[in-house]
Amino acid sequence: MPASHSDRLRLLNPGPVTLTERVRQAQLRPDLCHREPEFTALQDDVRRRLARVYPQAERDYTAVLIGGSGTAAVEAMVDSLVPSWGLALVVANGVYGERIASILGCHRKRYDLVSSRWGAPLDLAEVERRLAACDRYSHVISVHHETTTGRLNDVAALGAICQRRGVPLLLDAVSSFGGEPIDFEAWNLEACAATANKCLHGVPGTAFVVARKSIFERRPSAATTLYLDLFRHRESQEQGSTQFTPAVQSLYALQAALEELDEPGGWTARHAHYRQLSQFIRERLDGAGFSLLLGQENACSSTLTAFNLPPGVKFDDLYQPLKECGFVIYPGQKELQTKIFRVAVMGDLTLADMREFTTALEGLVVRLQSAVGVQPSGCGPVVAVHA
Ligand SMILES: *Cc1c(COP(=O)(O)O)cnc(C)c1O
Repeated sequence: MPASHSDRLRLLNPGPVTLTERVRQAQLRPDLCHREPEFTALQDDVRRRLARVYPQAERDYTAVLIGGSGTAAVEAMVDSLVPSWGLALVVANGVYGERIASILGCHRKRYDLVSSRWGAPLDLAEVERRLAACDRYSHVISVHHETTTGRLNDVAALGAICQRRGVPLLLDAVSSFGGEPIDFEAWNLEACAATANKCLHGVPGTAFVVARKSIFERRPSAATTLYLDLFRHRESQEQGSTQFTPAVQSLYALQAALEELDEPGGWTARHAHYRQLSQFIRERLDGAGFSLLLGQENACSSTLTAFNLPPGVKFDDLYQPLKECGFVIYPGQKELQTKIFRVAVMGDLTLADMREFTTALEGLVVRLQSAVGVQPSGCGPVVAVHA
């Protein structure tokens, strides 16, 4: 273990996350061939644990592991489940929703896009209109936590529409699975995609889809790729095997991370922890003159907050000095790149870390705004600035 928290770099980017020592060490377990019974036991355990992160899902849903990052799981889910004869309705308000449309385009699957300005809520009225006007939609597809802006989309409302219209929902839950509520039945969820290295606190390399078991019995795969065919992966994993070489060390780490999720009380405990850290940061930074990109706190996820950069302050003014203090913050994407910075609280982070972070940031802003022409430097105590 590091001697003190401030010895280590704390990642406030939305994955990969700051690891616990237990998860880091888990990667050093013995070398293992994936054709050995020990691997089957590992894979079975991880799949079982993933399927019961949300206990109500365990009976009717199964977890299928996909080697790769979160996008691999989203692509496997979307391409394997949306039929080529079908028409999908993509509901987007950020980078990741728009990426779903790109994925469908790459696989030459037909879709309509209901898109909102980044930061705005999903356009549910338009979803209602489209579903009422056309009965050919095979799926509605959206993003739970839109990491672009930190908005936690109102999937309860979107899912209720899907339920009422009898159209299954596919969800990118990459930055919410394990940290936010997911109501599989009420949302008419056919599947959601996620990854080991966001709210679950594992290492990159393993992603997964949690999908309704019955779909694998009822219909053929719609996949237009070999590697990301969810049905093939599921079939070999059900037989205790794998399609391709799995990221063994990443699975070791994910198993340890899932044990660590369970022990203090599962996703609800993690959600409460995230909320506590995020609320603390929002209050402190509000006092220091940082406003929320989304305006109101109840639109924000528990996991990540996007703050407007104060007038005259650039991302790079904050990034390097904060890194020297042991914290990595994250810029905005595309049109938000010069406007915001993002702070995620996933990973092995404590309230003490957040105190240290906000104190460093407050001090930095005072220096930036008062010392014209003087480059901010280092991680000095705030008092020294005024001296
Ligand atoms: C991180 C993220 C992804 C996937 O990103 P990868 O870099 O492929 O792991 C997808 N959707 C959302 C909402 C995300 O936050």
